Formats: sequence, structure tokens, C-alpha cells
Amino acid sequence: MRNRRAAVAAAATAVSLALTLTACGQSGEGGSEEDKGDAKGATVGIAMPTKSSERWIADGDNVVKHLESKGYKTKLVFGEDDPDQQVAQVENLITQDVKALIVAAIDNKSLNNVLQQAKDADIPVISYDRLILGTENVDYYASFDNEKVGELQGDYIVDKLGLKDGSEKGPFNIELFAGSNDDNNTRYFFQGAMNVLQPYIDKKQLVVKSGQTELNQVTTLRWDGGTAQKRMDDILTSSYKTGRVDAVLSPYDGISIGILSALKSDDYGSKNKPLPIVTGQDAEVASVKSIIADQQSMTVYKDTRELAKVATNMVDALLTDKEPEVNDTKTYDNGAKVVPAYLLEPVAVDEANYQETVVDSGYIKESDLK
Ligand code: BGC
Repeated sequence: MRNRRAAVAAAATAVSLALTLTACGQSGEGGSEEDKGDAKGATVGIAMPTKSSERWIADGDNVVKHLESKGYKTKLVFGEDDPDQQVAQVENLITQDVKALIVAAIDNKSLNNVLQQAKDADIPVISYDRLILGTENVDYYASFDNEKVGELQGDYIVDKLGLKDGSEKGPFNIELFAGSNDDNNTRYFFQGAMNVLQPYIDKKQLVVKSGQTELNQVTTLRWDGGTAQKRMDDILTSSYKTGRVDAVLSPYDGISIGILSALKSDDYGSKNKPLPIVTGQDAEVASVKSIIADQQSMTVYKDTRELAKVATNMVDALLTDKEPEVNDTKTYDNGAKVVPAYLLEPVAVDEANYQETVVDSGYIKESDLK
């Protein structure tokens, strides 16, 4: 820790110097890398997983904005959902002398070697949104209460089907979808949802006609909507020659859109075949529009602007020799250590509250929903 403290103090001096210096503009390094720094001083490397989902683009932009407002320079990279590319990008950031790293991993274990290089260079690492597993070289974790995300999805289904009203309700047919198996969040989301849904499956008020109830049967590699659409198509063909789907647990808006496409191709949403309840996550514009149009039922809003602030504050504390603020020191064991975390609260959003939650807060522009 001593070494890091010394490096950290030096970085802090550089940062305060930076605050008094003028902007130096873009560095013009090519590829998918963007140098957003405009003040001299410590540079923070930010590795985001993909640009294919709007939340990660916003995450990257917000982290850059907050770091720059504190006088740091930034290098932001996106890994195009390719773990090897992300490893190469992080390695590259380390050689470019970044003083801290904020990483939202694509694959929870593939970064282990490169994080050893970060450790050797005394670069602290913040695991952003997704916990990196199997290495001691993760200093802090900034995320949401991920189990709660799943609970909110499960609660919504139970509520809308009226299952709490008594054991005479049902049986209803439900199908289950989970996220990418290499993303640590996936099992927390699924566990949270199953905490709520499993008792009703046990009581046969909920029936999974496909029989696919184990996490390893329901994951969706890289959270891909097309993959989910294909699985929903297959399930409809094989398990719903008779009967109708009443609810689909979907962990993410992009997956929900794929599921809804499969359902609509099978005539769901027509007069005699209403769409099932379909959950989601991230409050992406397309899904909030779908909620307003009575298609997707709900999403889980996670204010990623706040997450960006939390991660930025962690970096700032580390580089100025202070203790980052955490609110959880028990939940997130990555297999090598329990990573101290700051967890934010997710919020369930549907047609009834989207205005006050995501629009009035400025997360989504009203005009984008037209
Ligand atoms: C994030 C979710 C997101 C998903 C797909 C997860 O790790 O926590 O917010 O929906 O990745 O990008």
C-alpha cells in the first residue's frame, strides 16, 4: 500500500497542478479510443463493454464528464463486447500511464492477467457496475443493488398476475430469461427474481412449460436481443402448441425487445391473444416507448449518472489519498476477496410512473419518447 500511497500523492499533486492549466484538446489517437482529456494532470482510463446499448455510451460520457470536472484527463475505450479486445485495451491504457482504471468488464474473469499488470504499476482499479472475479487486484466496486433489480422484476410479475391474492389464482405460464453467463450480475438478477417467483412455481401457480428453469438453461450470451428472440421463437414452437404465455422474466431491455418480436410473430398482441407481462432493465428509450405503447410492461431504472459520480468519487479519493465512500462490505465476494462496494438503488418503472422517474429526472428527454 505504501508504494501506491506515494504514487497516489504524486498523482494528486499533478491533478491540482492540472486544475490551473489550460485545456490541451483531443489527442487524436485512433481506433475506438477517445481521449476526452482537456486538462493536464493524472489520466484515468475507462473501459466500457460496448456501444451497442445506450446505457454504456451514457456511462462512458458521464464518467468522463465528472472526472474532467475534477481536473482529471480521461481515456475512454469501448470493447465491442469482445473480451480479448477489452483485455488489449486495458493493457494499452496501462502502458499509456493512466493513474487509475474504471472497468466495466465484458467477461468477469478474462481481465485477471492484465489487472496484475495494473497492480504491478500501482494503478488502482474500480470495477464498474459488473464485478470482476477471481483476482485481488480490484480495489472497489461501484454498482447497484443487483439482487434487488431481479426482485423488482419478480415482484412486478407476481403483482400483475395477482398471485398474492390467494392460492386459487393461476396457473399462469411463465418463461425465464437471464443475461450473459460471463457477467457476474446475471446470477444476482436471476437469484433476486427467483427469490420472488420460485415459491409460486413450487405451488404450481406459475408453470414454466419449456421446463427451462436453471440459470444455465436460460442465459443469453452477451445480452444479445437476437439470441433471446430465437430462444423465445423456439420455446413458442416447442412448448406452446396449446396454451399461452402469461409472463416472461426478461433481465434487460434489449432482450425484452427481442422477446416481444418473437411473441408478435406468433400473433401475440392481437385482439384475442394479449401480450404477456414482459419485464426489462435499463430504461432504454426504445423500451420506455414500448411501455408507453402497452407492449413491454416494465423496466428497471438505474440512474447511471449517479453510478458515474460514485465511481469518479472513488477514483478521486484514491488519487488524493482518501478513503473512498462505501456502503457494502459483505455482499460482493469475487472469489479472491470481498470487494468493498457502493451500491445504488434500482427503481421499477412502468406506464404509471415513467414520467416522474425517468423523464422528470432528466434521464430521458420527453422529446425522445415521441
Ligand atoms: C448491467 C445491466 C445491463 C446489462 C446488459 C449488466 O451488467 O448491470 O444494466 O442491462 O449488463 O448491458
